[in-house]
Amino acid sequence: MVNTTIKTTKSQEIFAAAQNLMPGGVSSPVRAFKSVGGQPIVFDRVKGAYIWDVDGNQYIDYVGTWGPAICGHAHPEVIAALHEALEKGTSFGAPSVLENVLAEMVIAAVPSIEMVRFVNSGTEACMSALRLMRAFTGRDKIIKFEGCYHGHADMFLVKAGSGVATLGLPDSPGVPKSTTANTLNAPYNDLEAVKALFEENRDEIAGVILEPVVGNAGFITPDAGFLEGLRELTHEHKALLVFDEVMTGFRIAYGGAQEKFGVTPDLTTLGKIIGGGLPVGAYGGRQDIMSMVAPAGPMYQAGTLSGNPLAMTAGIKTLELLQKPGTYEYLDQITNKLASGLLQIATETGHAACGGQISGMFGLFFTDGPVHNYEDAKKSDTAKFGRFHRGMLERGVYLAPSQFEAGFTSFAHTEEDIERTLTAARDVMSSL
Ligand SMILES: *Cc1c(COP(=O)(O)O)cnc(C)c1O
Repeated sequence: MVNTTIKTTKSQEIFAAAQNLMPGGVSSPVRAFKSVGGQPIVFDRVKGAYIWDVDGNQYIDYVGTWGPAICGHAHPEVIAALHEALEKGTSFGAPSVLENVLAEMVIAAVPSIEMVRFVNSGTEACMSALRLMRAFTGRDKIIKFEGCYHGHADMFLVKAGSGVATLGLPDSPGVPKSTTANTLNAPYNDLEAVKALFEENRDEIAGVILEPVVGNAGFITPDAGFLEGLRELTHEHKALLVFDEVMTGFRIAYGGAQEKFGVTPDLTTLGKIIGGGLPVGAYGGRQDIMSMVAPAGPMYQAGTLSGNPLAMTAGIKTLELLQKPGTYEYLDQITNKLASGLLQIATETGHAACGGQISGMFGLFFTDGPVHNYEDAKKSDTAKFGRFHRGMLERGVYLAPSQFEAGFTSFAHTEEDIERTLTAARDVMSSL
């Protein structure tokens, strides 16, 4: 299928050429539009709430480079700070004061974090946190949840979310059974299942890792008492609780889901927003646990480009911008207008749908719902989502090319952007 109402000749040419150069023509799977049909558009530039493709078409963007662009793309203050930092060089491989500054900001913001280690991606943050959970407790087993995504490290590629869910892939070939033998899975929002796993594996579970609000199986919120229940269970079994806030950190509140829900984990992983659009990840938590990380302690973890001055600079400036009063209220207001508008339009045009938002993170499933976990999410009409996605694209709205990804707004999005988006949605849904 090709676009019918917009000219995308150059996008098609470039993507066709990419097929022979890179697997699937992309650097990360979901970008290939496989689950929504049609071809991806190839980006030329991004600014504020908008993106432009190589054919000159403009779109309102709700992907925000998968979350980081919470200030809008290429915010002038971030770009200016980067220009200045660039003059001093692109990588030090040695301590810089920029790391202290961002570390202090992260520690001040995120309740669970007393000490932090910077890495280069969310994947790295989660695999390092897992090693630390095991090092600290001396136990090997972990509990994760179906449909949650913690990056592509071997140990997490069991019933994972994001691209794995989008493409309906089996647990990945190349991951030895021995690597995942200690990875236990439970349905999200199912405390009884977690309790049972703890009972069956007494004194063997290092900890529980989860997305405190799920964004990688579509947008799924924790039921009342779920996060609190996990906190109690992990205490009771002397296991660690790890919030993977790579997506939710600085997104659903400045202090992330742990601030929003008032539940403090032992360790937290971060990424996306704290890099302000450059490659960054981080993990942090209680000082006694973090003190196990080399060179303070014996748990090895390192990185040539970790703490990169450009990435630190973009992160610092982004967090500064987020500290302005009213930021999260504004995100909540426009995103609520968007999410409730989409739901209302879906209902009025006769489609089964459910969805919601917290601050600048939202989702819409084409199923009656309610969606409490990945099994529920999978009941969605993904073919219909594909047609909806294509229709929106043709009307200048760029949504994540998957039913199983959350959407993101930025404070560069205006009320008018939201209204234009809803007008497009009404048009598309009326003819689905
Ligand atoms: C994006 C994401 C990751 C992986 O981060 P990368 O930077 O893509 O490696 C891990 N966990 C969650 C919750 C994410 O959303």
